[in-house]
Amino acid sequence: MRALLVEDDAAIAAGVAAALARAGFRVETAVDGEAAWIAGGDEDFDVVVLDLGLPRLDGLSVLRRWRSEGRRFPIIILSARGGWMEKVEGIEAGADDYLAKPFEPAELVARVRALIRRSAGHAEAVMTFGALTLDTRRMQASLDGAVLSLSPLEYRLLDALAHNPGRAVPAGEIAETLHGTDAADVNAIEALVARLRRKVGPGVIETRRGFGYLLAGAG
Ligand code: CA
Repeated sequence: MRALLVEDDAAIAAGVAAALARAGFRVETAVDGEAAWIAGGDEDFDVVVLDLGLPRLDGLSVLRRWRSEGRRFPIIILSARGGWMEKVEGIEAGADDYLAKPFEPAELVARVRALIRRSAGHAEAVMTFGALTLDTRRMQASLDGAVLSLSPLEYRLLDALAHNPGRAVPAGEIAETLHGTDAADVNAIEALVARLRRKVGPGVIETRRGFGYLLAGAG
């Protein structure tokens, strides 16, 4: 497993790199946004750990550039403590998970492993909701037969709704499914749903005010 670690704080970078290496990752590091962008554009990584506050080019811009260039590796962003706006922007820009500073390197490693597990997917059936089809084996969603370009997190949100047909799933429950129990950030889920709606079009993801979200066309 190869990890790209993008962090300009030498002490944090050293701690995280050591923890990832102990967990069996081959770690490459970048200390500014431009170097990170070039490394991630040239090579494939199983996961990228991306600090947002970086010299030369900020992390959010790096993230947007990668996603607009079709780079699909899972990305976990490191945000400042309490920086919920940063988290929302990061999720909107295509990040798959986030961790607020300060954090324990062991927690980051656990998140990275969970992210890779989820990205690998599970072999199951094809699920259909009206014009929307989910191929859970290939982790692909299509609308009227055309494959949608989704980030891993966007796909997993659809997958979470698909596995609750006809039931409105609360944002907090989605956050738990996507990020684990201690990262239930409802704002970030709302942002993710908004981003996904722009891709799947209106009427596919319904909002039941006060209850949650569900896929239209279930049973
Ligand atoms: Ca920084």
